[in-house]
Amino acid sequence: MDRLISGFHQDEQGDWVAELSCLHGQHVRHRPPFTNRPWTSSEEGRNSMLGSSLNCVCCDRLEMPGSLSMIKQTMHFTESTMPKYLIQGHMLEKGCWAKIVVLEGALGYSRLSPANEKRHIDSSHPDTIAPNQVISLKPEGPVLFYLELYTLPV
Ligand SMILES: [Zn+2]
Repeated sequence: MDRLISGFHQDEQGDWVAELSCLHGQHVRHRPPFTNRPWTSSEEGRNSMLGSSLNCVCCDRLEMPGSLSMIKQTMHFTESTMPKYLIQGHMLEKGCWAKIVVLEGALGYSRLSPANEKRHIDSSHPDTIAPNQVISLKPEGPVLFYLELYTLPV
């Protein structure tokens, strides 16, 4: 999935890491002849890449970045009390991840972007919602679940 570059920092080895809009970090090494990214070695070069995008495979796999902290837990929802927007199609706030915890029953989970992917969530398979993605949740019979929202620690 393409994610925008919002900044850069160096890791302990001095290698440059691109900070992506999804809150994942991705190494952007210049190791010719294997990877050619001469722009990483100058501040000017790095600045010129701000706002362009990199493919983030961690987002494709719905791996939540490890550095996040939970900011909110929703109330418990059932098939009849869950917000309509979760069924019709919803996008999390910018820079926000969510964990879907199903206590009873099961939910169908569709990611409408980047591809039409259908997943299945029950109490033994919690799942994750990535930022900037349209998702929808459909109760598969009676269900009891809640969401945990995560973002970067302040
Ligand atoms: Zn990502």
